[in-house]
Amino acid sequence: MKSYLTHLECTGCGLRHDASELHTVCTACAKVLYPRYDLAAVKKMLSPWDLAPREQNMWRYFEVLPVLDATNVATLGEGGTPLMRANQLGESLGCTDLYIKDEGLNPTASFKARGMAAAVSKAKELGVTKMMVPSAGNAAGAMAAYAARAGLEAHLFMPKSTPQSNILESGIAGAEVELVDGHIGDAGRIARERAVTTPMFDMSTMKEPYRVEGKKTLGYEIAESLEWTLPDVIVYPTGGGTGLLGMWKAFAEMEEMGWLPNSKRPRMIAVQAAGCAPVVKAFLEGADHCEPWENAQTVAAGLRVPGPYADYLILQCLRESGGTALTVTDDEALACVREIAVAEGIFACPEGAATLAALKKLLADGTVGKDERIVLLNTGSGLKYLDLFQP
Ligand SMILES: *Cc1c(COP(=O)(O)O)cnc(C)c1O
Ligand SMILES: [Zn+2]
Repeated sequence: MKSYLTHLECTGCGLRHDASELHTVCTACAKVLYPRYDLAAVKKMLSPWDLAPREQNMWRYFEVLPVLDATNVATLGEGGTPLMRANQLGESLGCTDLYIKDEGLNPTASFKARGMAAAVSKAKELGVTKMMVPSAGNAAGAMAAYAARAGLEAHLFMPKSTPQSNILESGIAGAEVELVDGHIGDAGRIARERAVTTPMFDMSTMKEPYRVEGKKTLGYEIAESLEWTLPDVIVYPTGGGTGLLGMWKAFAEMEEMGWLPNSKRPRMIAVQAAGCAPVVKAFLEGADHCEPWENAQTVAAGLRVPGPYADYLILQCLRESGGTALTVTDDEALACVREIAVAEGIFACPEGAATLAALKKLLADGTVGKDERIVLLNTGSGLKYLDLFQP
């Protein structure tokens, strides 16, 4: 297996960047960089059906992942999560074709593992030894774990409100942890201040080009699980948008490689918390960018992102796909944690359960039809949020 990575391309101005050098954002316009691959060559040498005998983890898509030398891959077995039919939940909603992709089964119990596995491996390949990230939760735990696995140093900056599990798992894996007053934006500001005196590579969401590549394997897996077709609707709990954008990128790549012969793209639906909904607000106003959300508040730590860096890409994706964006309250999300657990045995995180709360609204107002093929993304395990479920 070899990677067909060719270069990085700016999503704003199109400027090409050398992928053999370390980059964060576009050197000309500071917008998000996307890795690009020689997809024509992959198309020639690999059919999606050839993947069948490969291991069930995200590295089975090695040709379209950015690590060139497999010995640099720091893996804990991330990806390869099941796309489960949710028949009992479906029955209670009247849905005939409902699925949950359970990302709680990943190492560090969230889908942040995918992004960090790709980004930490690539950083190692490019000679990074110290990395930092501001995180409202699971990104910190994942970076700590993959840094340990890769033998690199991780510095994590987290709001004091971050779930205990994330703070503890990071420290246990040997990362430097600094707790910060305020939200993830404040954590980011302090991380950048610290990086002036101690040079550390910035792994912030969408300011680093490779986390999205790990997350895009979600899109490849959904297609593979459905025998190289796509669902009608994907409901995604949106913070920084990496997973949403990753899937959208995966669909474009698969189309270009001819891996999805009869498939049209799903409508992408972004769910946010009522107490932090910059994407929903911008979407409903028809804006191209988000205004920073004041006083972000939600128990769904992964959704506590007041100003997503890739706002313009998220909004583009929602509109191009014919999707939408909506909010749910914390109470609605927490009630859905229980509902999913009772109906299907999956202890979802509040972010993941928010997709069910959103689906109910979408069914009620006819945005989503009951006979459509629907995928809910459960992005992590409820076990990381035990403080929310004390009796
Ligand atoms: C980070 C996170 C999200 C949001 O993911 P983005 O890629 O930032 O949109 C959702 N759920 C959980 C559990 C998370 O940790
Ligand atoms: Zn640019």
